[in-house]
Amino acid sequence: MKVTLQNLTKTFPSRNKKEQKEVVAVSNFTFEIPDGTLIGLLGPSGCGKSTTLSLICGLLKPTSGKIFFGDDEVTHLSPENRGVGMVFQNYALYPHLTVKQNITFPLENLKGKDKMTKQEMAQKALETAKLVQIEELMDRKPSELSGGQQQRVAIARALVKMPRVLLLDEPLSNLDARLRLATREEIRRIQQKTKITTVFVTHDQEEAMSISDLIVVMKDGIVQQIGKPQEVYNDPCNLFVAKFLGTPPINIFKGKVKDRKLYIGNTAVMDTDIPDMPVTVGIRPEGFMADEKGEFECELERIEVMGRDISVIAKHEQCETPVFRAIINGENEIQGQKVRFSLKPRKVYLFDNEKGSRIEVN
Ligand code: ATP
Repeated sequence: MKVTLQNLTKTFPSRNKKEQKEVVAVSNFTFEIPDGTLIGLLGPSGCGKSTTLSLICGLLKPTSGKIFFGDDEVTHLSPENRGVGMVFQNYALYPHLTVKQNITFPLENLKGKDKMTKQEMAQKALETAKLVQIEELMDRKPSELSGGQQQRVAIARALVKMPRVLLLDEPLSNLDARLRLATREEIRRIQQKTKITTVFVTHDQEEAMSISDLIVVMKDGIVQQIGKPQEVYNDPCNLFVAKFLGTPPINIFKGKVKDRKLYIGNTAVMDTDIPDMPVTVGIRPEGFMADEKGEFECELERIEVMGRDISVIAKHEQCETPVFRAIINGENEIQGQKVRFSLKPRKVYLFDNEKGSRIEVN
């Protein structure tokens, strides 16, 4: 099911009486979510992710704009009539019901031609439980399950009516690191098997990058960039997106362009083709190469061995942070108090100092 968001805007009245300004939680969001894809809605706290999800779900009505599921406009339909499945961070299972009863619950109220017999419901619940691999836990109560198992039950309950759209709001936040990893792979597997168009909200960029077909990066209610995870990582449209994606994060330096050369401090580190101007320079950790003859000289702070690669923690007076991190091949030998790098031009990004927008370089 294709989902179309058309100029979607949601404002909330200000809670502060003195300040009349309203909160724009989502601003003019237009996007066509392709049928059968998993979209990661990503951004820092307060950027409008949950509001967007609630608008798609029908728990909130937009201030303006429209929502379509396929060709049907659903903007004014209630959540029950939209055919959405929803999974929240806190599982929200009924504690007094068994797993089987929790999964069957959404089927109990089906009416008319959709009404099911007890046997049909049990059959459907079992099929869905098998899909999320919890069929052996059907008679347990939620309190007898681990966090990951509870979240699978919540996913099964959202899937049992075969929703047109599946909406997941930070579904992994309450799980520990290992379970998080396993459950996110599980969500991806289930989504690929069912081909249900899915919107997954998270503030964790690694999580969004690892399972999404497309990511939407938001800030202050405004969509910054939409694209395949790797494309957005390789080609960020502004400083915010560049900083938000990547672990370890991109390193930021003050720089300037003069006579077709990029300077960081007094050192020309790279050729470039843009006019003279001050710039903000972003260098991905993998954009550094240890090079005795490299122009970019830094003070070595320490080295962390990470198996095949090593992480060089170094200092430079033009760096925005006290230290920065370069990831280089572990075969390099780094010693002494200074370390010299040359840079990989494709991993170096220039941004406008005022607007933060990316400066295109040929
Ligand atoms: P988080 O990751 O912390 O859940 P989010 O990106 O999901 O954040 P939203 O919950 O969508 O962000 O909130 C977006 C903005 O709208 C925030 O500034 C928030 O304070 C505001 N907001 C959300 N709901 C309401 C409401 N009911 N009344 C007033 N303001 C609201």
